[in-house]
Amino acid sequence: MSDQYSVHALRYARSVGKRSSYFYGHHLSGQPDSEQHVDWSFWLLKSGNKTVLVDCGYDTDRAARKGRYVGTNPLALLSRMGVAAGEVDHVVISHAHYDHVGNIGLFPNAEFTLARTEFDWITGPYANRFPTCWVVEEEERTMIQNFARDGRFHFVDTRTEVLPGIEAWTIGGHTPGQMLVEISATSGKVVLASDAAHFAEEYETDRPFAMFHNLEDMFAGYEQIRNLNGRKGTVVIPGHDPRVSQTFAEVEKDCFDLTAVIAHPVEHDNLEGAAR
Ligand SMILES: [Zn+2]
Repeated sequence: MSDQYSVHALRYARSVGKRSSYFYGHHLSGQPDSEQHVDWSFWLLKSGNKTVLVDCGYDTDRAARKGRYVGTNPLALLSRMGVAAGEVDHVVISHAHYDHVGNIGLFPNAEFTLARTEFDWITGPYANRFPTCWVVEEEERTMIQNFARDGRFHFVDTRTEVLPGIEAWTIGGHTPGQMLVEISATSGKVVLASDAAHFAEEYETDRPFAMFHNLEDMFAGYEQIRNLNGRKGTVVIPGHDPRVSQTFAEVEKDCFDLTAVIAHPVEHDNLEGAAR
């Protein structure tokens, strides 16, 4: 039997934007523009002897240059969960956007898993073209290349068992090497969609996200995620959806236990501290 993990979403920032910035073709939908609340998280998986992250949040300084706001340092969030940076064994990188890889330099003992197609994309001939160069930071690409040279990276062709109880596989649409991560958790299977679905609305209503590598593949990805979400004993967690914090138990401030659905979902989202 594979290992079982606890799974927590650690929310390091919140923001409020416009739906037209987040959904492709919103202006064609006939719907008025309105607010879109966004949560920014990474994920902590723990078993008896392994500490694994899925992504690690954006770097404060580089994000500030993009006008992004950092509510909580990722290491402070980890320490709320009793985890020190040096204890992180492995970081699965769902994709190479700045808000998912910005802090890979903080974990001195970690190995990393990344899709080979993502690595090829960020090191390829068009990585310096806008908007790729906006979402994939030069310094982060260099860090990834250096760590890969040091032998700290595992590259995934299509699917891999990261560790017993943690599987990752590529899913098309958002970026060339976006991955889903499925975890054998104490409550059943938890599938971290990361940015294969920023918001549940994407796969619930086939509403495409604004930024994509291939639109048809993104729809196929939504289909796959719907099927996973409908599978008995599986819960899918979208990457940036504030609904997650309204659905799961908050065990420490901004730390949500994804194996513990709360009986009465929080109706109103308190946006104190959110960036606008
Ligand atoms: Zn993201």
